[in-house]
This record gives sequence, C-alpha cells and structure tokens, in this order.
Amino acid sequence: MKGDETPASQAKFALLMPHPYSRFRRLRSVGSRCKTPYLPTMIKGPQPTGALKPKIKRGLMMKCPNCGDAKLFRAFLKPVEYCPNCGVNWGEVRADDGPAWASMLLAGHLTAPVFHWVVFKTDIPTWASITVICLLLTALCIALLQPMKGLFMAIIWAKGAPTSG
Ligand SMILES: [Zn+2]
Repeated sequence: MKGDETPASQAKFALLMPHPYSRFRRLRSVGSRCKTPYLPTMIKGPQPTGALKPKIKRGLMMKCPNCGDAKLFRAFLKPVEYCPNCGVNWGEVRADDGPAWASMLLAGHLTAPVFHWVVFKTDIPTWASITVICLLLTALCIALLQPMKGLFMAIIWAKGAPTSG
C-alpha cells in the first residue's frame, strides 16, 4: 500500500473514475463502438418550472405542455421539433413504448365491461361479438395513442428525465 492512499485521496480518485458497474460507463463503452454515441442527454431549451398537473393536462390535450398555446404534434405521432411559442425542444423528448403500453392498458380496461355484456347478455353470434370487440379495441387504442404520447412527453420533460437522443 502506497503512502499517499489516504481516505481523502481515495475519495478524490473515486470522483474522477466512474464506478465499474455504473450505467454511464456501460453506455460510454457502447458509444465508443458506434458512430453516433448512445449517451443519455438532458433536454435543452427552457427548463420546467411550476406544478406538474397543468403540464399533464396540456399534454393530454396534445398542446405544448410548457405554454399550452402551440400544437405538440406535426403529424399523428410526430412531435414538433421546437415549440414555436416557447422554444422547448420536443424533438429530443422520446416517449418510446410508453404511450402504446398505456393506451392498450386503458383500452383493455374500458372494453372489458362491453365484452362481458356482448358475450353474456346478448344472443349475437360469436363471430359478430369478436368482430365488434376487435374493432372497438383497435379504435380505442388508436384514439388514445396521441393523448398518451402527450402525457408521457409532458411527464418526461417536467421531471427532467435524461433522453436517449
Ligand atoms: Zn410551448
């Protein structure tokens, strides 16, 4: 053991070196093999301030969660690159599979009573009941996708979560 390995110098060394099992070290090693490094980045532009609830409401209404005046989407599931009103960089906020998961979860729970009623309370043939349920589930999933994406983007931005941009 060398003489300069005091607890203070060890602590300094620990600050300089990433922990061998840290997430950032693993991502850095992945990034060094790729042309475009996969490193978590913080969302640039205006930072969130104030309560979370109004931001969630604006996201669910498919408006910019920061200002609530501009549209959040330029296509069905493509968010605008920057908000033209307040300048938040929505192109960097990635909701990934969250909106699909949430819309399927909600659609399934909303359709369950209809499924029960169609199967046990009516005399319509099985093929017709399956068709009705499938069409209802598909329509609900598609209708819920955009508001759920707005919700997830609002929460991700408001909580300052690192994105995979
Ligand atoms: Zn805005």
